[in-house]
Amino acid sequence: MLFDTHCHLDAESFPEGADAVISRANAAGVVTFACVGVGSLEHARAAVALAERRADVVATVGVHPHDASQLNEALEAELAALAENPRVVAVGEVGLDFHYDHSPRETQKDVFRRAIALARRLKKPLVIHTRSAPAETPAILAAEEARDVGGIIHCFSEDRAFAARALELGFYLSFSGILTFKNATAVHEVAAWAPADRVLVETDSPYLAPVPLRGKKCEPAFVKHTAARLADLRASTLEHIAALTTANAARVFGLPTPSGT
Ligand SMILES: [Zn+2]
Ligand SMILES: [Zn+2]
Repeated sequence: MLFDTHCHLDAESFPEGADAVISRANAAGVVTFACVGVGSLEHARAAVALAERRADVVATVGVHPHDASQLNEALEAELAALAENPRVVAVGEVGLDFHYDHSPRETQKDVFRRAIALARRLKKPLVIHTRSAPAETPAILAAEEARDVGGIIHCFSEDRAFAARALELGFYLSFSGILTFKNATAVHEVAAWAPADRVLVETDSPYLAPVPLRGKKCEPAFVKHTAARLADLRASTLEHIAALTTANAARVFGLPTPSGT
């Protein structure tokens, strides 16, 4: 029983519809999904609608750092209203991406701070996207007191020093298909070392398909491969890691603890 803590299920990526994608995931033992609604107001609305319609889906909404420069007052108000929906369990993904720099860095920082303020107001955790900003992301989380709500460092791809800082700030570490990549040694080290009560798995579908499915469009059914690698690195079993990461996901999102864990 696996929980994909970060998937994008947009119609552009999955024209067959989210229900078909979820059916395939169910067949692979994935039973709960956090659907990330970013990229546009339509995506955010679709994620919330899906979560309202299905008990096995929860939603997150936010402004991806790529889109930070598109934020205006009207959009911010719409997203804040959506984020109040009880099926929205977190604000995100938000953060900093200084690798692609699709939005100016100062704008990204400003939008990130506003997202933390929203999460604090709503008392909901944050889902953090961070790339090539290993000093700036924790600095902003600390300065804006994100610790009060905590959350998830999604698609963890940093080193142990970053992980230690994130844990200190009250964040969970979510591992994606990157964990299955042979050359991701720093991420392997963190996965082996991280506290058992702070590890999660995700697909970040439709991106980053895990080994042995690299090159395919990634979908939630594939999260099993990442969980298996995590089990491997922690000298554990897939069954144990599935129960552990699912219980952790329920805790961070404030959902009822799954039975049998
Ligand atoms: Zn991301
Ligand atoms: Zn994402």
